[in-house]
Amino acid sequence: MRTRRRPFSAQRTTDMGGGVWSVPVPIPGNPLGYTLVYAVESPGGPVLVDAGWNHEDAWTALRDGLAAAGVDVREVRGVVVTHYHPDHAGLAGRVREESGAWIAMHEADAALVRLIRSMPDGSHGDFQAEMMRRAGAEADADEVRRFERPDPPAQPDRELRDGDLVDLPGRALRVVWTPGHTPGHVCLHLEGADRLFTGDHILPGITPHIGLYPYDRQDIDPLGDFIASLKRVADLGTAQALPAHEWAFAGIAARAAEIRAHHEDKLLRLRELMTECADRPLTIWQVAERMTWNRPWSELIAVQRGMAAGEAAAHLRTLESQGAVRREPGAPGDPVRFITTSH
Ligand SMILES: [Zn+2]
Repeated sequence: MRTRRRPFSAQRTTDMGGGVWSVPVPIPGNPLGYTLVYAVESPGGPVLVDAGWNHEDAWTALRDGLAAAGVDVREVRGVVVTHYHPDHAGLAGRVREESGAWIAMHEADAALVRLIRSMPDGSHGDFQAEMMRRAGAEADADEVRRFERPDPPAQPDRELRDGDLVDLPGRALRVVWTPGHTPGHVCLHLEGADRLFTGDHILPGITPHIGLYPYDRQDIDPLGDFIASLKRVADLGTAQALPAHEWAFAGIAARAAEIRAHHEDKLLRLRELMTECADRPLTIWQVAERMTWNRPWSELIAVQRGMAAGEAAAHLRTLESQGAVRREPGAPGDPVRFITTSH
């Protein structure tokens, strides 16, 4: 286990050189501790990469942290978010209110934000509970209904596609689409400075959550996308990674290879598990219960089980696309069940 992870209280605004500042913004009540927001200077005003969680303490930390870098938050030109999750996009709307900044996000995540914002209040719990029931969970589905969701992120003004240049006068900040952690996750390549803002795609000590939602979807393969995105970023050959959590590091290709190996090992173990259970098809929930997590299944709370099931579903989906498992047809309304194809 690496030990370089320090609490938010030990973090400071840091001059990364070359007109890039790192500003830690706390994520209240979350073991991840903080988001690293980056301010990239330009003659047309600074652009932020991510913004942090929407909370009063986080806002104060962002405003004061930018001030320590000599940046008044009212001068911010734009906020480019690596993905729509609340610890990245949460404060983007507040920055826009203060400064008139634009908010930019990949079009696939912008579509998700539109979807989330269009859902009636309180319907998210029902959606989650129904998705869990279809995966074979009963008790947990009722518990998760009561789980409170953070406010949806602000709708972006600008939608990004792979290869686009972010509006940053005098510098080249290019969008590298890296779907996996979310469908519209992007890394941002500061060309000429040999640096890559990696968001949650590649972090030095932890791996991002890769889940499939709803669990029984067959039209996408987030883990397959994520593995392809790891290769893509490794092939850029960039020297320095500026991630959204933990710390800046060198050796992107080596870290990408480690993360890839982690998932390939997990796929292999899941394949073995499915072979051991060749006599009976399993629901996604039954598969998740049998997989290894960082704590025993019985100690996970409903929301954590829901996320574990999302990971199980993503790994099953990848095995399915490789032809190693298949879905067993059941009666209408029954939870979907998977079985190995090797006997
Ligand atoms: Zn995230």
